[in-house]
Amino acid sequence: MRPEILNPLFAETESLKGIGPALAKPLKKLNLTRIRDLLFYLPSGQLTRIKTDHATAKDVGASVILTLTAREYRSSTGRGPFRVIATDGQNGVIHLLWFGNNSSWARKLMPLGETRIVTGKLDIYQDQLQIVHPTEILPLSEGNSIPIKETLYPLSDGLTHRRLSHLIQQGMERAPDLPEWIEPTLLQKNQWPSWRQAIERLHKNPDDRDAKMRISYDELFANQLALKLIRAANRKKRGFPLKGNGHLRDALTLPFKPTGAQSRAMLEIEGDMQQSSPMLRLLQGDVGSGKTLVALNSLLIAVEAGYQAAFLAPTEILARQHFETLSQQLAGLPVNIALLTGRDKGKLRESILMGLADGSIHILVGTHAIFQEKVSYKNLGLAVIDEQHRFGVAQRMMLAEKAEHTPHLLVMTATPIPRSLMLTAHGEMDVSRLDEMPPGRQPIETRVIAVQRIADVIASLGRHIAQGGQAYWVCPLVGESENDLDFSSEIASAEQRYTLLQQYFGDKVGLVHGRMKGPEKDKVMTAFSKGEIAVLVATTVIEVGVNVPNATLMIIDHAERFGLAQLHQLRGRVGRGSDRSVCLLLRGSELSHVARERLALIRGCHDGFRLAEEDLRLRGSGEILGTRQSGENGFQLASPEDISALLPIANDDARLLVDRDGGLSAERGQAARNALYLFERDAAVSFLRSG
Ligand code: ADP
Ligand code: MG
Repeated sequence: MRPEILNPLFAETESLKGIGPALAKPLKKLNLTRIRDLLFYLPSGQLTRIKTDHATAKDVGASVILTLTAREYRSSTGRGPFRVIATDGQNGVIHLLWFGNNSSWARKLMPLGETRIVTGKLDIYQDQLQIVHPTEILPLSEGNSIPIKETLYPLSDGLTHRRLSHLIQQGMERAPDLPEWIEPTLLQKNQWPSWRQAIERLHKNPDDRDAKMRISYDELFANQLALKLIRAANRKKRGFPLKGNGHLRDALTLPFKPTGAQSRAMLEIEGDMQQSSPMLRLLQGDVGSGKTLVALNSLLIAVEAGYQAAFLAPTEILARQHFETLSQQLAGLPVNIALLTGRDKGKLRESILMGLADGSIHILVGTHAIFQEKVSYKNLGLAVIDEQHRFGVAQRMMLAEKAEHTPHLLVMTATPIPRSLMLTAHGEMDVSRLDEMPPGRQPIETRVIAVQRIADVIASLGRHIAQGGQAYWVCPLVGESENDLDFSSEIASAEQRYTLLQQYFGDKVGLVHGRMKGPEKDKVMTAFSKGEIAVLVATTVIEVGVNVPNATLMIIDHAERFGLAQLHQLRGRVGRGSDRSVCLLLRGSELSHVARERLALIRGCHDGFRLAEEDLRLRGSGEILGTRQSGENGFQLASPEDISALLPIANDDARLLVDRDGGLSAERGQAARNALYLFERDAAVSFLRSG
């Protein structure tokens, strides 16, 4: 139930004047299907034109508006351009050029002997001033309609700046003034314009600082407000207070003592689980910090208290690995544990589902996917979700919505989230951090090597496996067919590398990648963890969680293709035992400045949290890494700088508002609802009813 005042903003773009199918298509491509989308489609820059009656060489490179008279046509033979020789008011000569078969079009626009207003970018070629493909040619009478200043938008084929500007203007006319949702003192202190003014100003001048801050703040505020609402609703939900008596945990024999950080996290979780409102906690810990033990401890609390628990992983491989680890650790204890993945079908699946329904299965290990399905438990008391950075906010919301009585929820991630983003991504959760590594770990020796020296690398790999060691060889792509656009054939594909390494090491080499079928993948992974395979060539499917302590050599091919956080994750696959581990970063020949900096950072730093901060900083500098998009933080408008400047304020403001008016029913609360809808965080509105 979107507030009515917003309806004009959510009207279809196609309801604007002058949009035919030819325009609808590019708009759709840019995701500009509603007026709201148009208004939030901010310009990327500005174009300033020089109006002059006599252009000279000093104006070359500028966009000019000139009054020109056509004197002569010159057609070239073959593929050369069609030329109009034109003169300006002071007899300066300028050539207008059209390439292709445009001569009739050009003749019509510039009839001989007549004067026209010509716009375009001034160029010089062999001492001759020229304009190639003028952007606009108008009769004298219409000359004044050419704007001197024009905002530029990121475009797609079939769309011009002028067209888009006109549509946005029309949209702007329909945009209502919205009641203010920003806290009055904050608004006053910053002298920010209203929402509508801010949008209007940004389309005129993309560098308008106050307007930009205002809009970024709005977006952040809507996000934080949504999270606070989820949190408040969660607090009011009834869960099960689970107090284990310790009989299972005490019976557990571990080969090591928990670290201080693990013990602290376990205590925090135990405390949460005893509450009657459900736990909503994030366990953050670098790769290898020992999150699995904390998870196991929590699972056992639930079982001790007579409830069931689920442990969910993002991939089949990880689910299987968790299942095996837990099965070993729980051997001999009266705990029934089962594995369920999307792949299990038929009788086996039936019997597991039955065991879950009648309570004979205590712990279910599975993939995230089983959350989406109808699986009924007798009494699910706790869900642990591993590696949750692949588990989006939307899914979390769904999860919270679905449950009638809410189980405790523990999400775990090895993705070190920069402090500045922590609140935007997980503001609704409590956080435990494993900031201490189990003892005996040595830092992983990290070296950067040019890919040209691959023969040396293969030779040392050979020595490594001759001594009984195992190694990963990670590649950025699966095969040639994934090569699109700028991926040149020089890029190592996993398949190519696999073939190459087989020539040296024969069947000691295995291959695993994301396009393989599940059972195939498992076979290879199992062989690797049993030591039957010495070298595992892989794509990033092994990024999260896989644990093979005997693998102490990690080779990352074309390492510059990976982001910092990802490199860190990959490197974390080794250094799992007490042996010294090595990570070799093979770099390609052409490195951007940022890529170089990234490799230098990863070589010298082993702290995932610091790397995450640096990653954010480097990304803020504008380079788009691999397939990552600018909206990766989940924000369309707020830049990383805006986020660090404004997020703490938006977060406090949202919290205060929810504390004071959890139903968003007072005047400002109603206004804030508009912000939730406008920034598409309205899934959170459903939580108001329970509040
Ligand atoms: P992650 O946090 O990446 O999931 P794991 O739980 O897989 O880390 O643990 C990594 C390795 O460290 C495992 O081999 C595990 O058995 C071991 N480990 C966990 N906790 C401790 C500890 N307190 N002391 C020694 N080794 C530990
Ligand atoms: Mg793990």
